[in-house]
Amino acid sequence: MLFLLACAHPQLSENPPDSLGIPHTDRYVLRGGRLPGGESADIAVADGKIVAVGRVEEGGEEVAIPGTWLAPAFIDSHVHLAYRPADLSTGGVAAAVDLAAPLDFFAEDLSPLRLLRAGPMITALGGYPTQSWGRYGYGREVGDPTAATAAVGELALAGAQLIKLPITGEPQLGEEELRAVVEEAHRRGLKVVSHALGDHEASLAATVGVDALAHTPVELLDSRTIEAWGKGAVITTLSAFGGRSSTLDNLRRLQAAGATLLYGTDYGNTTTAGIDLQEILYLQEAGMSGAEILASGTSTPAAYWGFSELGSLEAGKAASLLVLSADPSKKPEVLASPLQVIIDGKAL
Ligand SMILES: [Zn+2]
Repeated sequence: MLFLLACAHPQLSENPPDSLGIPHTDRYVLRGGRLPGGESADIAVADGKIVAVGRVEEGGEEVAIPGTWLAPAFIDSHVHLAYRPADLSTGGVAAAVDLAAPLDFFAEDLSPLRLLRAGPMITALGGYPTQSWGRYGYGREVGDPTAATAAVGELALAGAQLIKLPITGEPQLGEEELRAVVEEAHRRGLKVVSHALGDHEASLAATVGVDALAHTPVELLDSRTIEAWGKGAVITTLSAFGGRSSTLDNLRRLQAAGATLLYGTDYGNTTTAGIDLQEILYLQEAGMSGAEILASGTSTPAAYWGFSELGSLEAGKAASLLVLSADPSKKPEVLASPLQVIIDGKAL
């Protein structure tokens, strides 16, 4: 991020322009930037939305940004903002998926960040994470299938937009409870995301119909588990586990099998409040191209989670974008240090 330059006469302007000259007005045109891949395109912004991309004749105040590249602002598919509050939007993240928080977190307004929230994980009596980092309300403990079904209903009523279902060490919900949760969540149109780090756990998650893995599993996966997840989604979080070779190998094989890959950091348990350079470097090491990394943090999660205003630079979308120093489809690491973040048309 570039910060505002200290102004010698701050009383002259309540809203001084930032260093790239993005105006604090409702209508402006970004001129001379390039889209990922290299095509040059102007972007006209009005009232927080993109109104035109390409050759733009006139659209308000002119902002020349030659020598820069543009990308959609990012979507982080795995965060815990109740655990470690932060403003992710200034770091280039326009939307996130919060994968465990106490019930009172549903009431928190984090705008301009768009946020899907799971609320408490549905877990066994004394199950993960109620005896460790999540002991203060991050788990909703259930003891049988009926209670499991009821917990989904309660969470949905409280505001849950998806369900988090850990499948990990004992005490652990049995297959019947897991199936009850998935069935009730799907009946209500909610996706289910599981924390499942081992081969047995990831395989069981697929068997009971879980939609997405909250992490790339750490234990080397059996080829049958890889095949089962080829139709599912996997949130990357490579950096959260130190980029182990087994994890990177799993991601490479899951991608080859056709899994939907969603960039995610486990922010809260990790500490970079924004786009995480280390995660991007591990994604490269796992064999993803720059374009694939960009998609995993923009167009793919926008479609997967239903963030319909985000994920691409097109007329009608939110003007939530990154101004970058190089082409992110060739040098994805520049995503982690944007020259400027714009969210809903406002320079942050
Ligand atoms: Zn997490």
